[in-house]
Amino acid sequence: MAVTNLNKTSVLIVGAGPAGLAAAITLKNQQPQTEICVIDKAAEPGNHNLSGAVLEADCLNTLLAAVDKDWKQSEQAKEILAYKVTKDNLLFLAGKNFPFNISISIKLAKALKLNFAQMSHMGDYIVSISKLTKWLSQAAKNLGVEVIHGFAAEDIIYDEKKNAALGVKLVDQGLDKLGQKQPNYVAGEIINADVIVLAEGCDGLVTEKFIEKAGLVRRANQLYSVGVKEIIKVSNEQFRKFTHGRAVHALGYPLWTPVLGPAMFGGGIMYPASENHIAVGMIVGLDWKYCDFNPQDALTNFKNHRFVKKFIEGGTIVEAGAKMIPEGGYFALPRNPQTSAIGKANVLLLGDAAGFVNMLKIKGIHNAIKSGIAAGAAIAGCTNNPAAIASKYTELLNMSGVIEEMKQAAKFRQTVAKLGPLFGIPLSILGGKLPKFKIKKDYEVLTSKKYKYKPSKNYDKDTFTAMAATEHREEQPSHLTITNTNICAQKCTPGFNSPCITFCPAGVYETVNEQVKPANPSNCLHCKTCQRKCPFDNIRWTAPEGGGGPRYKNM
Ligand code: SF4
Ligand code: SF4
Repeated sequence: MAVTNLNKTSVLIVGAGPAGLAAAITLKNQQPQTEICVIDKAAEPGNHNLSGAVLEADCLNTLLAAVDKDWKQSEQAKEILAYKVTKDNLLFLAGKNFPFNISISIKLAKALKLNFAQMSHMGDYIVSISKLTKWLSQAAKNLGVEVIHGFAAEDIIYDEKKNAALGVKLVDQGLDKLGQKQPNYVAGEIINADVIVLAEGCDGLVTEKFIEKAGLVRRANQLYSVGVKEIIKVSNEQFRKFTHGRAVHALGYPLWTPVLGPAMFGGGIMYPASENHIAVGMIVGLDWKYCDFNPQDALTNFKNHRFVKKFIEGGTIVEAGAKMIPEGGYFALPRNPQTSAIGKANVLLLGDAAGFVNMLKIKGIHNAIKSGIAAGAAIAGCTNNPAAIASKYTELLNMSGVIEEMKQAAKFRQTVAKLGPLFGIPLSILGGKLPKFKIKKDYEVLTSKKYKYKPSKNYDKDTFTAMAATEHREEQPSHLTITNTNICAQKCTPGFNSPCITFCPAGVYETVNEQVKPANPSNCLHCKTCQRKCPFDNIRWTAPEGGGGPRYKNM
């Protein structure tokens, strides 16, 4: 952990996910002499990476064939790409028992050349993003990139006069719960760099601070969803019936059912995870309005649906986790208002940190990797002019098709947020002909209404947290802060019954001595849902000491 000798590097990449690593690999391959350092708060590669994850794999070829044209022949490549989608199930669940296969609608959309056709997953690969990340991390290291884990960044040093960033500040280590220095105290270093690449993932702490400091602007509020996912070990027979190549995306129950039911955006997912393992998950737009809603309750209902149950009944959960997804799309991309660059001068925003998820496809990893390739090439092409890198990067993003793809899906999530799933999803086929609706922030739409399908038994959050293998050093200041506890007591608890206690997937919040507190911060999964869904915008998530958090291996 000798960060002292790292206090200056040429290119600093914050976040060792697919986007950050793709940038590192591309740059190091094009310009081997460039000093590149990638830092990540997770203890080990892939530990903080969780996704569906269906991958359009062409981007991997663009990235890796530039380094080794035979990359597909490696054992690891074969393992990562072992599950090709051969059965693409799009279902509508009309209730607890009735699944309707509506995959035909995608074929129809293809024939009619509608944007909706993007929802097809045939020929894509079902991957573990944790494993993919671990593999890309090794590929970057093999090229000579320094990839360092256990280093959490908390801020960017931005010089307004120079209009450029100078470096990134790391989190202090070795404080006790009250913030007092312990014998093992190490002040968070500043790592100075000529170029800073922010690839932290969704709702990045440093990214959001940079957006504010540098005056980047979103044309629409960022919208989020949260995904909760379990990997379940099933019998040979169940796995054989499910098949190696099946990707299931299910709309409808238990998130929305027509007319009198709940109305939430999202749905259930099922994929093969590895031999005899099936991943089952639920993704829910954070613009839900039910104050007693917990996405894990919806996951329970989904798992009990007749279609799902037959594949997983009697199985054992072996891993679990939660993560937010940026869903706002094209209009929520943070841009420099003068140049339209996605970044500014020597700072670039990549992947989920920028918001390159296409909700029509329900996919973002391909765009994350493409943004990394564009970033690497932009840095290599602007060696003597770091101030021009953000504009060059955006130009290359345009050329790569990422921006055009985001544009095509621009109105989809916005329309559903405005009109609800019942009218929003069918109307979204009008695509670009729809107006650009003004969308509220996710936390602003919560009401005192109750979720209709609340299961009779509370979800077992302790097991969920244990299956995420999350850990933090106990004796450190809480990285979660409730800004004004009076609001909890006087407004939120009477009006909404303290929803953070219900929706936090790790059971971090509790009422202690009649006061709502982040009582168990060491359980935190770093999903950041609380920061974006507290109805009074009353929670702040900061980075805990590096090395803490979940330890995903197969998610
Ligand atoms: Fe409500 Fe937010 Fe307070 Fe939790 S932290 S009780 S969600 S106001
Ligand atoms: Fe997610 Fe917040 Fe709970 Fe941590 S405390 S697991 S960030 S909702």
